[in-house]
Parts: sequence; C-alpha cells; structure tokens
Amino acid sequence: MPWRKVVPYNFRKMVIGGIQKTSLIDFPAKISCVIFTAGCNFDCPYCHNAELVSPPFTTIIDPEDIFAFLAKRKNLLDGVVITGGEPTLQQNLPEFCDRIKSLGFPIKMDTNGSRPDIIQSLLETNRIDYIAMDIKTLPEKYSPSFSNIIPNKIYDSIHIIKNSGKAHEFRTTCVKPFADDNIISQISRIIEGADLYVLQKANIDKSILHPYFFENRDWNFDMEELTYFQKTAAASVKKVSIR
Ligand code: SF4
Repeated sequence: MPWRKVVPYNFRKMVIGGIQKTSLIDFPAKISCVIFTAGCNFDCPYCHNAELVSPPFTTIIDPEDIFAFLAKRKNLLDGVVITGGEPTLQQNLPEFCDRIKSLGFPIKMDTNGSRPDIIQSLLETNRIDYIAMDIKTLPEKYSPSFSNIIPNKIYDSIHIIKNSGKAHEFRTTCVKPFADDNIISQISRIIEGADLYVLQKANIDKSILHPYFFENRDWNFDMEELTYFQKTAAASVKKVSIR
C-alpha cells in the first residue's frame, strides 16, 4: 500500500499552515479563531487536513501576523483554538501559547495524544484551558493504519487529560473498520468519568489523505447505529454527543 512514511517531526519554530478567522463551533460556547499548525506524526486515512500533514506545506503564516490579527480582534473573539496537524510537535508551542494568553484569550488545543509529556506540561502550566483528544480506535489497534505509536502513550495522555481538572473532550471518528459497538464500548470504559465523548460522523471523499483506503469498502455508520453507540458509551462517560 502506498502509505506515507511518517517522520518524527519536532519543529524548532512554529510552523503555521492556516488560520480560520472565525468559528462558532470549534471552542464550546466561544467565538474563536482557529490556528492550524503544520506537520503531523500520524497518517490517518480519513484525515481532512491532508495539506497540513507533511511538507511541502502550501501555506506558511508568520506567527507575528497571527499575533497582530488577534490583537485587532480582541473585542470580537472569545478564544483561540490551536489544531493541526499535531500542535505538540512544535517546540515553540509554550511560548506561542504565552503570547496568545498575554492578549487575553483562553486556548483550546486539539491533539492526537501522541506526546503525553508535552500535554501534561501545557496543562500544568495553565497554557491550555480546554483540550480535545482524538481516540482513533483502541490504542492497541493504531498500528498500522494510524501510527506505530506505543499504546501506552495514548493511555498516558488519556489519564493526564482526565485528571487535569481542565475542561476536556475525547473524540472518535466513527468509521469502519476502526469503530464498532464493541470498540466504542471499550474506549468509553478507558475514558470512564470523562467530561464529554464526541462520536464524529465520518466524511469520506476524495480530499482525504488516503481515499483509496476506503475504495470498495463499507465504511459508513448510519444515524441509528451512531445513536446505539451513544447509548453504549453513556454508561461510562458523563456526556456523549454525536457531531
Ligand atoms: S487526522 Fe489529525 S492526527 Fe490524523 S493525520 Fe490528520 S492531522 Fe494528523
């Protein structure tokens, strides 16, 4: 299979690949701006940010332009979302968060959970106010389709986030063969006690990272099946929603 060779990124300078100036849905209860960091250490077949996963990146935005934009929007935005790619690969992420915080914005970060130490440090230093972690499938099943990550890194990130005292959510994109009732039930037990578990409807089209993975496959779950998963997960998690 023509899979992407995943390189271990560690960017010395923030590499920002995009910005969505206004969003009403990415930071709960806030009007936010969404910043997309470039580079990811995962290779999710259904990724919708394919242009942000590996170089060459089509767009690079100077962080100073982001700060200037945010300074002008101080009274119009309630928060900033940092997403990717995978934000924790950026070495300057703590300083980047500090600059955003100095402008008065709370920060939400989306992560694939591959770097628990960085996540812990960002949460402990109050740089992140809300964290959303994707759980692709059972951690033991990430390889070979998503990453060859050691499952314990995913478990560690879940543990850190759940016990951080910060607002958080876990999310699973519900697509075959990575989800089914048994898998969702096991994941919900792993994240037991979490604030929120979001079951995301899959959107498979030609723009995803590896469209050929889903060719001639039955990948979709209908709303009835997702509602069934929701009921299953609700036994372990405070709130389960379908997005
Ligand atoms: S879905 Fe997220 S974690 Fe997966 S390749 Fe895309 S940016 Fe990386």
